[in-house]
Amino acid sequence: MLRDAVGGRASLSRFSMVQAPGRVNLIGEHIDYNGGHVLPIPIGRVVGIAARKRAHREHRITSLNFRESCTFAVGTVPTAPAGSWVRYVAGMLCEMARHAAFAPALALDVYGDIPLGAGLSSSAALCIATGLAFEAVTGTDIDPIEMARMAQRVEQVYAGVQCGIMDQMASRLGRPHHALLLSCDTLAYEQVPIPAHGARLMLIDSGVRRALAASRYNERRQECSAALTLGRRHGASLRSLCAMDRKMAERLKPAVLRNRAVHAVDEDARVHAAAAALTQRDWAALGRLFTASHVSLRDLYEVSCAELDFLVETALAVPGVLGARMTGGGFGGCTINVVREDTCEDLREAATQAYQQAFKREPRIYELRDSLQAGMVRPA
Ligand code: ADP
Ligand code: MG
Repeated sequence: MLRDAVGGRASLSRFSMVQAPGRVNLIGEHIDYNGGHVLPIPIGRVVGIAARKRAHREHRITSLNFRESCTFAVGTVPTAPAGSWVRYVAGMLCEMARHAAFAPALALDVYGDIPLGAGLSSSAALCIATGLAFEAVTGTDIDPIEMARMAQRVEQVYAGVQCGIMDQMASRLGRPHHALLLSCDTLAYEQVPIPAHGARLMLIDSGVRRALAASRYNERRQECSAALTLGRRHGASLRSLCAMDRKMAERLKPAVLRNRAVHAVDEDARVHAAAAALTQRDWAALGRLFTASHVSLRDLYEVSCAELDFLVETALAVPGVLGARMTGGGFGGCTINVVREDTCEDLREAATQAYQQAFKREPRIYELRDSLQAGMVRPA
């Protein structure tokens, strides 16, 4: 017999268990805010929430990771520092309540195994899991894209992060063993199956978390907006930078705007080519696209760093590694690698040894074999 948090008898139906996964973007970097396409996959790590109604007018939320609890009135967001888990959960509950016929007080116990701040979108998973918990307990039915938009708004308004919508869409809509080919302009999407054999995807976390990343991110957004304005001034009726003609991108001045625009246009093309490579089970082609993406992010978009470049170079020197690139916003975070099945251990050893020697720290390495999907967790 299960017992609930206050020691009473509880039937299974009194609790709802939900989960939402983190994500890794296979390719399509820094083009979500340029109207381009992205190709994220959900990973096998989630934020999970056990949720039930409370007979109070106050929510009680508990983080098992942080060993903290917080109680606050329904419809409010308690004071907490920007970036605190409380703001994501309370913000999402407020957003959801706006779309529900009634908003009861909830008890939520939150636990996750997505590394925080590693670029795997633990924050989006937390928001989506909160949305699903609200849905499960209240019986509200929210369109998945609408829920992703709400989660994006929570990051922007309550957490102060001007993010695109890829992470939330990937967490809410990603399916196991599929990549989500997503237009960040129209939000149209397609599920692209990932071949089960032939190669593996491996993630290497540099361990670098740069404080500068946010200001550089804003700088890139401004440069892209300037490049788009220039393009429009030259007479093109452009919806976004990714829609710019390659020749026009090449002609932009100054060079820095040209480079940003050429990256955006080429990266968008690489995303489509990567989706085709997956469909054709052509891992070698996918690998080449990964490496080309990295070179562009390093040289044209200038969002890499010494540690990421080193990890990519080290990986590419290992026979059987088909391609490697930084993934995420850059200036730190992870690289993603396409690796022949029999080469995973070689890459693990080479990267660990070389990185330790060069940067005096051990990289964390994950094989992206499992993947999970957002939704209810049903008892076996
Ligand atoms: P990322 O999304 O790349 O992992 P962020 O800095 O955007 O990094 O989000 C991390 C924040 O998300 C954490 O500081 C915390 O506030 C919240 N968070 C993520 N996972 C959990 C969790 N399992 N429990 C509580 N808060 C979490
Ligand atoms: Mg985040």
